[in-house]
Amino acid sequence: RRSVVLRRRPGGEPRHDDFELVDDEVPTPQPGQVVTRTIWLSIDPYMRGRLWDRKSYAPPVQIGEPMTGETVGEVVASADPAFQPGDVVAGARGWQSHCVSRGTALTKLTRGDAPLSAYLGVLGMPGTTAYSGMKDIGQPKAGETVVVSAASGAVGSVAGQLAKRAGARVVGIAGGPDKCLWVQETLRFDDCVDHRVPHLREALADACPNGVDVYFENVGGAVQEAAFSLLNPFARVVMCGMVAQYNESEPPPGPNLGFVVGKRIRIEGMIVSDKPERFAEWRALASPWVSEGSLHYRETVIEGLENAPGALQLLLRGGNFGKMLVRVGPD
Ligand code: NDP
Repeated sequence: RRSVVLRRRPGGEPRHDDFELVDDEVPTPQPGQVVTRTIWLSIDPYMRGRLWDRKSYAPPVQIGEPMTGETVGEVVASADPAFQPGDVVAGARGWQSHCVSRGTALTKLTRGDAPLSAYLGVLGMPGTTAYSGMKDIGQPKAGETVVVSAASGAVGSVAGQLAKRAGARVVGIAGGPDKCLWVQETLRFDDCVDHRVPHLREALADACPNGVDVYFENVGGAVQEAAFSLLNPFARVVMCGMVAQYNESEPPPGPNLGFVVGKRIRIEGMIVSDKPERFAEWRALASPWVSEGSLHYRETVIEGLENAPGALQLLLRGGNFGKMLVRVGPD
């Protein structure tokens, strides 16, 4: 078995030599356990948070431990009667060629329903995040203006398409012309602003002549400042993530949120696992949309478990286009 373990805590951007490859025997499952062969490994922004030795909603990865991450894999040995070798499952965790899990932590998948990688992106945790955030907090309505940052990414691409389905005018924010073009032409957002332009606030204001009723926040920093300046009375802000600052050891000075009071704006943080029932709910709702091709998604695939650290580094720089994945083994 091959594992990518944490060697030391990165101070800024994570680097290859913060991790090391360790080989050992594939373990034998104990009662209730299942051993899977990893097919796909998900690379997600939250992973940067697990590398800091800080108190958070989830504990940090310890030095010498395999890095955490959700996988899709095939069962190779099982001591849980609910799973047989050959079953395909989601939920095993670890940057590893083989993972040991409790059977109760795994969800069985059916080959052929959707590409297996989709269960880590559009039909998995990021898709559920977009769905939960929009359903519980954003609640976009026909005619409203919705702004989504990191719009071409795993969460943002679904968040914006859900707002379009609700009849809203949707404006994305993304890095570079290729991403902006895809957001407009394939995802069918009404507009998309490149956050690298010199006058972001003006560009976003031009794209949102009626202000902003829902802002789905994935980025923070200058992008957040531009979007917040356009919020309408009674706007909703989904505080989903602020990836722009994950590599910073000190949080940058935040915007002054005083105006939230006067405009009676509801800002609410969310963690996708708060409502576990949303996972199955979203999968049932979105699987037909993925099958018929009406819910679009995109993937960036890095080959080989040993390249997982590089994939995380790339993701935090915007080098991914859509869901970031590592292909660990054959489908
Ligand atoms: P993405 O696929 O969106 O990839 C990250 C993207 O962030 C990059 O492609 C890049 O897009 C953008 N980005 C990175 N750095 C910057 C920067 N300095 N300024 C502007 N944009 C930047 O990742 P996900 O869809 O998986 O995650 C999106 C957000 O959702 C993250 O903040 C994540 O932490 C959060 N999240 C929260 C969850 C929750 O339960 N609350 C669950 C899952 C995700 P670009 O090139 O367009 O700038």
